[in-house]
Amino acid sequence: MGILNQARASVIQRGYEYYKDKKVINFRKESDTVFYGSVKGTTAYDVKIDINHTVKNTYCNCPFAKDNRKICKHMVALYFTAFSNEAEQYIENIAEQERIEEERFNEMYGYLYDEDFEYYEDDEEINDYVMYEVVSNYVNNLTVPELRFRLIEALIKLYGKDFP
Ligand SMILES: [Zn+2]
Repeated sequence: MGILNQARASVIQRGYEYYKDKKVINFRKESDTVFYGSVKGTTAYDVKIDINHTVKNTYCNCPFAKDNRKICKHMVALYFTAFSNEAEQYIENIAEQERIEEERFNEMYGYLYDEDFEYYEDDEEINDYVMYEVVSNYVNNLTVPELRFRLIEALIKLYGKDFP
């Protein structure tokens, strides 16, 4: 587990994609905790992971990880190759997370999508509707951190000191 605990979320995500795209070649298992492989990227990198000694004994010669103690996407790809059940778990957690976020969003704003909602009563309402389309387009393209940030901003603007 040490590898994933020490990696940034974006690194795990890229590592998962490398694993899924089968970019790990020459996979070799030395023991239950030590694994070797090469990972194809722009060039192929040589990777070794030791899940019991992630700092001292884990290595990759890519520019990101070479000469420092960072966990890189190649190490994560090798890790997922060695522990494919962890990869399954990872992607299930992501899917679950997205489902929860979508549910939360629908709870908060779902009524706006309700087709029974009567909108077109006069021009002003049509303008509101167009505005809604523009804003929802914008919001739907935000990443989750951006979305959180914008929501906080909007709530502060809306409620000021009276929140919640
Ligand atoms: Zn690397």
